Amino acid sequence: MAGFSDFALHKTIQQAIHDMGFEEPSPIQEQCIPKILEGVDLVGQAQTGTGKTAAFGLPLIEKVTGQNAVQAIVLTPTRELAIQVSGELMKIAKYKRVRTLPIYGGQSIGHQIRALKQGVHVVIGTPGRVLDHLRRKTLRLDQVRMLVLDEADEMLDMGFQEDIESIIKETSSERQTLLFSATMPQEILRLSRKYMNAPETVAISRKEVTAPTIEQVYYKVFERSKLESLCRILDSEEIDLGIVFCRTKRGVDELTEALQERGYMANGLHGDLSQAQRDKVMQSFRDATIELLVATDVAARGIDVGNVSHVVNYDIPQDPESYVHRIGRTGRAGRKGIAMTLITPREMKQLRTIEKISKSAIESRTVPSIEEVMERQQTIWREQLIALVEGDSDMTPFMEVVRQLKEEYPLEKISAAALSIAFSSSISPGEEEVYDFGETGASNGMVRFFINIGRSVEIKPPDLIKEITELVGISGKSIGRIDIFENFSFVEVAKESAPFVYEALRHSRMKGKRINIEPAKPRAKRQ
Ligand code: ADP
Ligand code: MG
Repeated sequence: MAGFSDFALHKTIQQAIHDMGFEEPSPIQEQCIPKILEGVDLVGQAQTGTGKTAAFGLPLIEKVTGQNAVQAIVLTPTRELAIQVSGELMKIAKYKRVRTLPIYGGQSIGHQIRALKQGVHVVIGTPGRVLDHLRRKTLRLDQVRMLVLDEADEMLDMGFQEDIESIIKETSSERQTLLFSATMPQEILRLSRKYMNAPETVAISRKEVTAPTIEQVYYKVFERSKLESLCRILDSEEIDLGIVFCRTKRGVDELTEALQERGYMANGLHGDLSQAQRDKVMQSFRDATIELLVATDVAARGIDVGNVSHVVNYDIPQDPESYVHRIGRTGRAGRKGIAMTLITPREMKQLRTIEKISKSAIESRTVPSIEEVMERQQTIWREQLIALVEGDSDMTPFMEVVRQLKEEYPLEKISAAALSIAFSSSISPGEEEVYDFGETGASNGMVRFFINIGRSVEIKPPDLIKEITELVGISGKSIGRIDIFENFSFVEVAKESAPFVYEALRHSRMKGKRINIEPAKPRAKRQ
């Protein structure tokens, strides 16, 4: 398998890849990067989350020269993606002087015009706004040597076909054209035939893989409180040895540090450590000096430790194969093991793919509440105390302290103080509310949402329930009253599920339509 160092990429870019914490190229990157560097037109197909951005981003940044002109343009379907891709390109260009600019609707055009005037090498934009700039002549694409259509299927879904074609016509015919997409409907093939020069195709197929028969669960979490959720999960589990997977080396370092700060016996393993360091970490894991090994996929490859009770996917694996690899680290030699995957709302779809391809049933579990974690910790403290009280270890020096204090203070208070010295560091901090939807006119314990689809797309309550439960991964029981109107609907969902429903639906589509979801206004004010 190729490593990043096998690609003809300048050392400044190699260094940036290293800083980003990427250990090895993903399959789509491995196959696309050399071809793009050669200069061929290319159609790349791989599912979401497989690293398509860097697949074109690395050669794109490599090819940018000192010439003061827009040399490359990337078209993306949404403003979020434009910003995201631009961010990733900037990271790749960390040690190279490349000016990138995301341009999208919703941001002041004046600001964008000023930025464009200062000279930009790479533009990342949504088709509508790019076209707008072309018409105003504030953007010129005649020097563009590379054109990338990112998430092409989404762009066509959103009706950007004509805009895209108008933009393509403004670029030089000498350009290299790249097209990336998760799916390849007919219209995309037509587009590629029309505007690409003998394109090569790289398709990463989903090899069927079979997951081992161990218990598999997932937890719905939010990006911003992922660490807190992980800690609660860890605190409520009986872990012999656990492997926690992160996507990048940097992720491993950050999580290891955060876990250590919170008092977990954790250590990190990734490809930047020397062999000696790695051996040391592995040894401490084998002899259970540490209980959590935080690792990247590469580093954990080939780890064969017998009593791994838990595999935790802190970051969702990039493909079903790697999922199967990861969870195969537990349940060895017929022992019981459990694989847990943390899923943010945007990743729900990836989870479904993993489930399907690996033919596993991954059950939903709820992140334990603070109260549940506390209850469980109290049980553990009680057990530890009982063992000491009933056992015969020598406690003379402590007894003496208790005897003296007992004269002045109640025993109950003394014991609690002693416990707090021993255990307060293991109490996890509380969390802030993730969302406050305010008053939405919902029934008790529910939140009412406005959704921009209704009868006009022939949706009925059962369809809506089905779509929501599938997209969000909640049970139909969490959905309450539904009111469907011509062009919009109101749906009530249980308060606990509301934040996840909101975030998951915001990035989805139903009946081919992009969903707009908002907390509803209270009824009284509406009328
Ligand atoms: P796609 O466009 O295929 O949906 P992205 O390019 O958005 O996927 O990549 C998904 C995530 O994986 C991003 O966070 C990205 O930084 C990360 N990533 C990409 N390539 C690698 C790699 N080789 N190693 C580790 N992480 C990677
Ligand atoms: Mg992408």
